[in-house]
Amino acid sequence: MTVTAIVGANWGDEGKGKMTDVLSAQSDYVVRYQGGSNAGHTIINEYGKFALQALPSGVFHAGVINVIGPGVALDVETLFRELNSLETRGVPAPKLCISDRVQVVLPYHQLFDQLEEERLGSRSFGSTRRGIAPFYADKYAKLGIRTSDLTNEDRLRARLTQALESKNVLLQHLYGHAPLDVEPLIPQLMDWGVRLQPYLRDTTAVLQQAQSDGKRILLESQLGALRDPDHGIYPYSTSSSTLAGFAPVGAGLPPYAVTGILAVTKAYSSCVGAGPFVMELEGTEADELRRRGGDAGEFGAVTGRPRRVGWFDAVATRYGCSIQGATGVALTNLDVLGYLDQIPVCTAYELADGTVTEAFPVGAQLDEAKPRLSFLDGWRSDLSEARTYDELPAAAQRYVEFIESAIGVHVAYISVGPRRDQIIVRA
Ligand code: GDP
Repeated sequence: MTVTAIVGANWGDEGKGKMTDVLSAQSDYVVRYQGGSNAGHTIINEYGKFALQALPSGVFHAGVINVIGPGVALDVETLFRELNSLETRGVPAPKLCISDRVQVVLPYHQLFDQLEEERLGSRSFGSTRRGIAPFYADKYAKLGIRTSDLTNEDRLRARLTQALESKNVLLQHLYGHAPLDVEPLIPQLMDWGVRLQPYLRDTTAVLQQAQSDGKRILLESQLGALRDPDHGIYPYSTSSSTLAGFAPVGAGLPPYAVTGILAVTKAYSSCVGAGPFVMELEGTEADELRRRGGDAGEFGAVTGRPRRVGWFDAVATRYGCSIQGATGVALTNLDVLGYLDQIPVCTAYELADGTVTEAFPVGAQLDEAKPRLSFLDGWRSDLSEARTYDELPAAAQRYVEFIESAIGVHVAYISVGPRRDQIIVRA
């Protein structure tokens, strides 16, 4: 029996989707346990290229049961759009179970996200405007709507009426927007209930049974450690925990069920959106890394926004792995660095007062930190056909081993291209 959490060690976009797709081949269940449609997991396989925002990354494997757990922010329209797109692109209908306790992102969550970003103007946090922060705010204010509420009109009307009381005050007096009426929402949400009904289950019971039957379960995270609201770069964080510690909660398994935590990190750094990013490159160096990175350059899978890029940041990644509790690392995008004679790596931060630290700082210290670099030899060759560790050039092996010792976690997988087969398993 294995229950493995696949999580990000950094700011997100580390290649978790690819790693989940690869490991799904040996899994029975793949579970999304937090987050919403504000980030996409890129997967390239025999069916083409996909950027999944709502569906678990196991949907391309016929034998896998895909689960959306109660911790997720369920974007219903995106979910059905993705299911349709799989069908039109020839992917067999996936096995999918959606928790009857998971809450849905409502049209007014997206409206509030947009209005708040506009209100904040240049002080905005770079929201993707998918309604994720207003969704989680409502969830914890006990104003959310669960999938099970969508099949009971009276209950739905009562919940929406309660939620809109305070929202309409904000809409009118903070945002200068017309108030919302409950009634037009009812048919739309009831329709969601009808369409979701075939998938709704007590997924917690399903997973607990699977666990006691010794099934292999992958828990798939969205975004990365540094976006965690408690341990990340708050307030430039997301609104749900991105940590493996939350995985059993958001999925519905006992905490002791998790047997492995695979933290995914790129061989360099990338970051979408605002917030402190100490190792950030500018100018032509950044342009070149951004152009060569990922499968088609470093551009957001959902937003298309250019990602900020930098060299590998051992300070941030060691911290990310430690708060994840990583038991192994998947190092992705190693192939991207083959154009460099020398590869810089950030091994420490210099704080504003001149102190040099290997610990990840907080607040103003983080904002003002500067990277301290070490340089490793490049390998100046194409790694994309390598399938065993021994096939990597000596300089690439030294790079992997340097990172491994800098972050203190075993590098168990090395990804040398975006495709499913471009993977090296390191014992
Ligand atoms: P996720 O959200 O963590 O799944 O990451 P994204 O899908 O947002 O971003 C990862 C990017 O890296 C995507 O463009 C992937 O296709 C790409 N990718 C993943 N692994 C590799 C790799 O080993 N090499 C290259 N060149 N691209 C990769």
